[in-house]
Amino acid sequence: MWVLRVCAITAGLSLVSQSAQANTMSASTRPPLKISAQNSAQPVSFDARPPVRTQVPSQAQTVSSDAGLQLWITEFKPRAVAQGIDLSVLDRALRDVNYDAKIIKRDRNQSEFTKTIWDYLSTAVSDLRIKNGKAALQKHAEIFEQVEAKYGVEKEFVAAIWGLESAYGTFRGSDSVIRSLTTLAYDGRRGEFFEGELIAALKILQNGDTSAQNMTGSWAGAMGHTQFIPTSFLAHAVDFDGDGRRDIWSDDPQDAIASTAAYLAHFGWEKGTPWGVEVTIPDSFDYLLANRDIAKSPQEWANLGITGTHGSIKNYGPASILLPAGGDGAAFMIFGNFEVLESYNTADAYVIGVGHLSDRIKGGAAIKSGWPFDDNALTLKQREDMQRLLTAKGFDTDGIDGKIGPKTVNAVRAYQVSEGLRPDGYASPALVNRLQR
Ligand code: CA
Repeated sequence: MWVLRVCAITAGLSLVSQSAQANTMSASTRPPLKISAQNSAQPVSFDARPPVRTQVPSQAQTVSSDAGLQLWITEFKPRAVAQGIDLSVLDRALRDVNYDAKIIKRDRNQSEFTKTIWDYLSTAVSDLRIKNGKAALQKHAEIFEQVEAKYGVEKEFVAAIWGLESAYGTFRGSDSVIRSLTTLAYDGRRGEFFEGELIAALKILQNGDTSAQNMTGSWAGAMGHTQFIPTSFLAHAVDFDGDGRRDIWSDDPQDAIASTAAYLAHFGWEKGTPWGVEVTIPDSFDYLLANRDIAKSPQEWANLGITGTHGSIKNYGPASILLPAGGDGAAFMIFGNFEVLESYNTADAYVIGVGHLSDRIKGGAAIKSGWPFDDNALTLKQREDMQRLLTAKGFDTDGIDGKIGPKTVNAVRAYQVSEGLRPDGYASPALVNRLQR
């Protein structure tokens, strides 16, 4: 996963976050867990547009495909050795690596696809995924109990991540991680990032956690049951069964389950606190308050007329109001654990998907509110046009990158205010049309 933008539903969906909270990977200080990607193991790629390549091509990159890759490997080895990788590990791991054109093709093709949050959630939290989540919890009940006790993360959340990342281990990815990362590092678009991941992958081999042959994952290098990228593995994976290896790749999911809980614990998980709860917003609501920078207690929100859709809300601490599809869609009161889940993937849709799936696995109610179902997801061109037009009108979007991050949402709000529209920050097709007129 990368923080960016990834996730996992079995169908290769992609979606761009609409909310103010959508960080971009590059802006996040959190370690990426997974690489943005779309493949069978990783359903969703939220905002998959990587930065434009700015590196000067090396000698290796001026030659195409496999010959170039081999030359690149020769150049790479001393850099890897300088970072502590034994030459023998390098030689063995890279000996038979060849260029994988399919990966580059996928890397180039991921940016155009988008999905609305309601389409995403219909797959992410399908009846089948809920049912399979309950079954997975039952099948591995003892492990989940032990992991929850040790790391303080409720088992339903860990199961939900597992469910979204690999359909509970069904789609863990079968591409060679070393080959994928070598190809992507050589290719150069985000080359520095992938070279760092390749070195981390080689460290994992050097540690003896697994073999190059068994180190498989998504085409973009996300590995195992919960799709850790190598740097996140090094930082957070644990050997839960005590066999001396941190094995997130094998059929036995226990190390992966524990590693995922360890990861969330590291980022500050608060047991007993929800990710968020669905709320009902009064007509009189000041939409400028639905902003991640504004936090109030549930009681303070109640004083403003915001009530829990499924019952009263306990005081779980400071909360913000999130409207992932504007004033005509579902609204959520979100707590600290929402931000913890963002460490896995910053897209609102992903976090809501994990949170809601965990609620449903636990037997909670479905999201009650509707969504603006008539709205199509914005295309990349529409998103860029919108940013260009907002910027031209004096509402700074911090560049034209097609990503709807906090700056763009704030620009949308400012434009809505200036036009006398409801300032919900929602980048709808109607708003784009209005700008284009
Ligand atoms: Ca182990």
